Parts: sequence; C-alpha cells; structure tokens
Amino acid sequence: MGVTQMTDDLVARTETDPETLTDGFHLLIDALKLNGVETIYNVPGIPITDLGRYAQAQGMRVLSFRHEQHAGYAAAAAGFLTKKPGVCMTVSAPGFLNGLTALAHATTNCWPMILISGSSEREVVDLQRGDYEEMDQLAIARPHAKAAYRILHAEDIGLGVARAVRAALTGRPGGVYLDVPGALLGQVMDEVEGSKSLIKVVDPSPASVPSPEAVDRALDVMKNAKKPLIIIGKGAAYAQADEKVKELVETLGFPYLPMSMAKGLLPDTHPQCASAARSLVLKESDCVFLIGARLNWLLSHGEGKAWGEKGAKQFVQIDIEPNEMDSNQPIAAPLIGDIGSCAGALLEKIRGNWEKPSEDWTGAVRSKVEANIERMAPRLKNNNSPMDYQGSLGVIKDLIAENPDTVLVNEGANALDQCRSIVDIHKPRKRLDVGTWGIMGVGMGSAIAAAVETGDQVLAVEGDSAFGFCGMEIETVCRYNLPVCIVIMNNNGIYRGDGENWSGGEDPSTTVFVKDSKYELMMQAFGGVGVTADNPDELRQAIKEAFASRKPTLINAIIAEDAGKESGNIGNLNPSSVVAQNRYPQAKNI
Ligand code: ADP
Ligand code: MG
Repeated sequence: MGVTQMTDDLVARTETDPETLTDGFHLLIDALKLNGVETIYNVPGIPITDLGRYAQAQGMRVLSFRHEQHAGYAAAAAGFLTKKPGVCMTVSAPGFLNGLTALAHATTNCWPMILISGSSEREVVDLQRGDYEEMDQLAIARPHAKAAYRILHAEDIGLGVARAVRAALTGRPGGVYLDVPGALLGQVMDEVEGSKSLIKVVDPSPASVPSPEAVDRALDVMKNAKKPLIIIGKGAAYAQADEKVKELVETLGFPYLPMSMAKGLLPDTHPQCASAARSLVLKESDCVFLIGARLNWLLSHGEGKAWGEKGAKQFVQIDIEPNEMDSNQPIAAPLIGDIGSCAGALLEKIRGNWEKPSEDWTGAVRSKVEANIERMAPRLKNNNSPMDYQGSLGVIKDLIAENPDTVLVNEGANALDQCRSIVDIHKPRKRLDVGTWGIMGVGMGSAIAAAVETGDQVLAVEGDSAFGFCGMEIETVCRYNLPVCIVIMNNNGIYRGDGENWSGGEDPSTTVFVKDSKYELMMQAFGGVGVTADNPDELRQAIKEAFASRKPTLINAIIAEDAGKESGNIGNLNPSSVVAQNRYPQAKNI
C-alpha cells in the first residue's frame, strides 16, 4: 500500500499509535542490515540527512565525507575488499552526480557497489516543474551502472534492496543505482507487514563451474606451450580464492605477472613472479593464461611491439563474464566461471600429473628477474635530498616488507608507476590504486575504506597532483581517527614541477603548483600529525612513527622538481602532431 492509498486505519494510527508502524527510513535500514550491509559512506543533506542519523542510531557505521565522490570511491573500494556491495548515500542532483563518477568507476572495475541517492518526486520531475535539485536521476544513472532501480512505495523497499544487492554481486560484479524519492522515506506502514516485506538475498554470487570440455581444452593448449605465462588480474584478487590460485600457479609452474591490484595475491617476491622481466615474458611467451584480467588498454589490448610477433601466442582466459572472450584477441580456450571453481577444476585434473615448463624458459626468466632486481637495488638505497622516486620508494618498499598487513593506497603519475614497480606487496588485496580508468582522486576514499573495512594500517602514497583531487578528506581521516599515513610525493606539479609558460607570460605553466606548498599544515589544521621529509632517512623515521602511533599522519615528502616524466609511463597515450612539434621547440625536451 503506497502513501496515496493509506487506509483510514493507518491514518488514525499515525496519530495515536506510531509504535505499531514503521516507515521508509527504517525499512531501508532494516533491508540493508538484513543483507549484511554494516557500513554506509555518506554525505548528509536533503532528503537523506535523517536516513544517515537513523542508520547510525540502528547500529550501522555511517561515515560522513566532505564530498560525495570520495564517499563513492570509498564504497567502491569497500566492494573490492569485502566482496560485498559497498554502499554510498548522497543527496539529489548535484550530490548524485558527484557520486555517479564513483559508481561508474566501480562498474568499470567490476566491483560491487550500491549508490543510494535521494531524489525529487516523480510527479514534479517528470513535468519539469522546477523542483529543488530536480533531475531525472534514474535515467542518467542507467548507462553508467550495471543496473538502476527506483522504489516508489514503502512496501517495495525490501524488493528494491534485494534487486540492488543481487545485481551488484551476481556474475560480473558492478555498480547499482537505487533511486529513493524523499517522500518514500516518510511513508508509513504496519510494522509487522513491513518486516514481512523484506527479502534476504540467498547466494547472490553462486559458484559458476566451467564445463569439463572447457577445462580439457584449456589444459591441452597449456600442455603444448613451450613458453607459457600467467597474468593474474584484480578479478582474481576480488574472488578471494587465494589458496586455490596460489596452488594452481605453483602446480602449473609458469612464470606469472600480477596486474597492479593483483600484486600480493602471491607475494611479489615469489620465485615465479616475472614482474622484473615483464618485457621479456610479454614478448617471448607463446601461451598466455589470463586469470581475472582483461586484455584492455592496460595490456595494450594484447598486441603491438610489446607482445612480439602477431598471432604467435595462444590465449587461455578465466572470466566470469562470457562476453569478455575475444574482446581483443582470439581466446583459444575460454574458461567461463568463477575463479575458485575454474582453478579447482583445473587442479583436479593436474594434481600429481603435470609437467612443468622446461628450465630453458623458466630459468631464462628467473635470470632476467634477478639481474634486473640487482641492477635496481643500489638506486633504491640513495639518501638524496631533495629525494628522487627511487630513494623515497626504496624506504617504502622496506617498510611494507616489514609490515605486510599494511594496505598500500597509490595514485599519481610517476608516484603511481614507480611505486607499483618498486614496492613489493606480500599479501592479497593490500594494494588499492587508480584501477581500470587510471582515475585521479581515488586516494583518500580508498584509504578511508581500507582502514574502516580491514582495521589495518593504511599507507597512501600520493602524487601532489592526485592528492589535490581529494585532499579535503583528510578532515574525515582525522574526524574518525583512522590509522592512515599519507605520503605526498611533492614535486611542485603535475608530472614535474619545472614546467614553463611557453608564451613567456606571467601565469605559471599549466602543469605546476605553488612551489614548496606546506601540505603538512593542512593535516595539523585538523589535529593530525603533519611533518616534512627532506631525505629518505627522515621519510623512514616519519613513517615508522606513524605506524607505531596509528595516528592520522601526513608526510610532505620533498621530491626533486625534475624527477618525474611527462605522464609517467603512459606518455605514449598523449596525442601529438608534427605541427605542434614544429611550432614549439620546447616540446622536444618533454
Ligand atoms: P586487471 O585490471 O587487474 O587486469 P580487470 O579489472 O581488467 O583486471 O579484470 C578483472 C576481470 O575479472 C573482469 O573481466 C571480471 O569479469 C573478472 N572477474 C571478477 N570477479 C570474478 C570472479 N569471481 N571469477 C572470475 N572472474 C571474475
Ligand atoms: Mg607531482
């Protein structure tokens, strides 16, 4: 029964006997709790201010942010870390749009998330009568989400939440939008009827087992390979089938490359890890087995110079999404299913019955790995001031090895690329970064979610530019007193701090910031610890103190202005033309 059809009985009871009633606010909270949601990442405002308050009163953890985008990034990261939908709650139109970026990010990354936004009433929105924060949010969310729903009646809240939870988790996970018109929250209904209307979703991500033919086909392809390679992606980290993946990789005996957020699923120091010989294995392998990794731009679509001769490789791929197959290269042996089931099915056939690849291949890869690591080692030990990326990240590499439960959050350009390659990760799901979009500004949301969801220490390694997109959330870090240590790799700008204005005019270059900004004072303003580090020894000391105290800490790490590269490792993605090269002689120096 909707609000428009309230019975006389219900009208009378709202005045005389509210204890036998419930309302939209409480049905929504009860439905989320029933489905295991314990935390909401929130920005209060009309019409959801009370929803956050009541949820907190009902025992949920409700973390209020300063901007919806970061609350959304936190929910997305929580989805990846917990394999449950991360929930973000926003106000209508502008707040909704701010949260939508994060919902699209979750969907792109295949992470479960639910964005719940308050909205104006349909009757007003649909006739475009000009409401407060009027917007047709459901229509706008749809192309950016895996699914989008609107609930109009209190008795449908249970159904709406069940639809959202299942859509977020089933098959390939993704972001779901749930539209909650303000009036819905105030609707009342009989409490007993209300509680009967709730639905607890049963088995939302069911095991999906590959067919025996698909398993045999995959093993045939891999058996015949001379130079096989495994690429492990963040889908495998998400799947939480850690032991099975490890056993599969070790039983097969292939060298493997972890994608960025799959680092640590097996420790980066594992003897089969080929990260330090990436160019060699990508080019020379004759068979590539993808486990929860897509052949998208991050793997240059499986083609081009880095991949060696065209057509010389056979691909085997595990993915839960059948449609992923052949999206970039022909897949000789698709394995459709969840990673745990697929790894289990392969293991059943090969345990005690598998010939590992020849030492010619694995030995050559190992030698290359060892030579590259040895070549790099002295550079990571420098104590230069101002710092370079090697000296500063060498310190972070040591401290993560000593504290392997720390969650490393990482974003920036050079700060991202260098940290990813230098800093080893030793346990699953201990690295959160810019994900499939290469998005800037995810750092603080991810750091807050990591601290809240895991209870572990967080170390956020942030380019000064990336930090600028989310810096205000340090107030949130301080308010909830989270064990988050932020290191700002401060080189005074985007990519580098020494850019010049090519017109010769007075404005600074488009890529530089105020020189020698004192970011540490921002942290002090909110009662956190804010310090600078001019050299690697100071950086080591400051991080150690942060880890020991678990206090919110920001370290302004002074990096040489000229230490970075334009666009980090992906400068090749910038468009260029002969006209520009001819017109600006300075362009040649970039
Ligand atoms: P990376 O960026 O690390 O290469 P991607 O995000 O490109 O990883 O790929 C992750 C893949 O994992 C997606 O194609 C997704 O469908 C898949 N995936 C997610 N969860 C599972 C699961 N439980 N089982 C199998 N595949 C999964
Ligand atoms: Mg910078």
